[in-house]
Amino acid sequence: MALDNPVTVLGGLATECDRSPSAQPPGLVTPTLLEVIRNENHYRSRNWEREVATRYVLGFRDAVVEASFFQHYQNSHHVKDVVELPTSFGCPVGCRHCASAFLRASRQLRFEELIGSFEFIAERHAVQNSDRVLVTFSGIGEGAFQKPNLSATCRAISSAYPRAYFTLTTVGFDPSFVSFAALLAREIELHYLQISYLHYEQRMLLQIIPRAEMLGFDFEKLVEAIRRERDVNVRLNYVVISRFNDSRQDAEGVAARLEGLQDRLVLRVSRLNETEPSKLYSLIPPTVDAVLAVRDVFRNRGFTAYEFVAARNDNLNCGQLAGTYKRMGGHTSSVSESGDQSDG
Ligand code: SF4
Repeated sequence: MALDNPVTVLGGLATECDRSPSAQPPGLVTPTLLEVIRNENHYRSRNWEREVATRYVLGFRDAVVEASFFQHYQNSHHVKDVVELPTSFGCPVGCRHCASAFLRASRQLRFEELIGSFEFIAERHAVQNSDRVLVTFSGIGEGAFQKPNLSATCRAISSAYPRAYFTLTTVGFDPSFVSFAALLAREIELHYLQISYLHYEQRMLLQIIPRAEMLGFDFEKLVEAIRRERDVNVRLNYVVISRFNDSRQDAEGVAARLEGLQDRLVLRVSRLNETEPSKLYSLIPPTVDAVLAVRDVFRNRGFTAYEFVAARNDNLNCGQLAGTYKRMGGHTSSVSESGDQSDG
């Protein structure tokens, strides 16, 4: 079903589009709205504890993606608005805990599709050009595959929404992504480069990301890059999985390798978000106490560390998909709205 209202063109976007390194033809791609999922959840996090989420399942010609608008609150105080965008349909990295593993195909989104998704959400939520809004790319996708389109997208949004700020995300196999983020931070307000990480030992990482070796994962090189690029704020998202990386020894191993970066890094200690693939591979979310124990190891080593735990699984977190299209082989034909999808 086509949208009732065409997506509005960002002010000055054509100019930015012309500058896009991806050399895509200028013009926006308007996504088709396939499904809306609304939910409210509570979290243990750093400076907010309640999230009001609206997830949109959006169709492009040969891809279905999910993009979100999150409102974060501490008690009744509004903390921030977040537009979360995916960067690909499926993902070639193939992490075993990620819902994208159930999508049969994968392709990177084009610049026009990234902007079209942002504008779709901005219009639905009446985001004004003068609003302060965080734009994250923590939906499905790996930032390192999307450098030209990410820089063009961030610049275009930043130009039209001067108070927008950004979080880039990666799983960290390409250390040059840290330099890329540092360069981009000279042009836009970069909140964080978020690096999700599972284990410093390659043999362990391979259990979750079998393509880690092929992709050139090297924790030492990644840490070197972080040490070198002093102008980029890095958040290491340590995803805790029961009996995989939740021991004191595991956390001490990570902390030892990050020694000296206490003033440069924030460590977010996240409980694994359960997905259908994670269940298939018997990857189990840890208890909250286990997450807190890992957090405390990092704190005792002098790092700023905080826990990130959803009160209940709503399939609206990193690496999760909530739309019903997955069961239909990647296609869905009509718009549906629901208040709470507890199982995706
Ligand atoms: S966790 Fe990120 S990098 Fe890994 S498969 Fe999912 S989207 Fe790709």
